[in-house]
Amino acid sequence: MAKNLDILWILPAAYYDLSTVSLDLLLNDSKWNDGTIKTDVKNHILIGYQKQTNATLSQMLEFLYCDPLERCTRKDMCGEVKRQLYCITQEWSVNKPLEVMVDGDWECFLGDLCGLCLEVSKVRFQNARKEFWEKLPEIFGLPKWGVLVGMYGEAVDDAQAMHLGY
Ligand SMILES: [Zn+2]
Repeated sequence: MAKNLDILWILPAAYYDLSTVSLDLLLNDSKWNDGTIKTDVKNHILIGYQKQTNATLSQMLEFLYCDPLERCTRKDMCGEVKRQLYCITQEWSVNKPLEVMVDGDWECFLGDLCGLCLEVSKVRFQNARKEFWEKLPEIFGLPKWGVLVGMYGEAVDDAQAMHLGY
């Protein structure tokens, strides 16, 4: 894994992808063990790995355990639907924050929410994704996007568009 300046901007996405595999797979990968990755880089990746995993179960799923909406007319029902999905997510892959909810999941798991709660949940999740993406470089000990963008301009927009599905 080269860490040359000309590819610095791809590192956040590369580290993100590395941190979506199981820890077992990562630590037993030949590239991880052949000496090409320096210890300080490995440490940054492992610390980021843990933060990424934590973010998946907390920040990204916050919409499932936040307080009921004041304007929701069936708070018990909506609360129960969200509680059940939160229990299910504990068995899902826990280190893919940007993909923890995919399109089909909304109808499949949250179709019984009232219209208001469903819409607000989607907005909250999208906001959490954006916040996570904005912090991604720092999670792995890299310069902020602003610095990387300043260096490499549009290339980052492309990478962002790719991950956020714009
Ligand atoms: Zn509701």
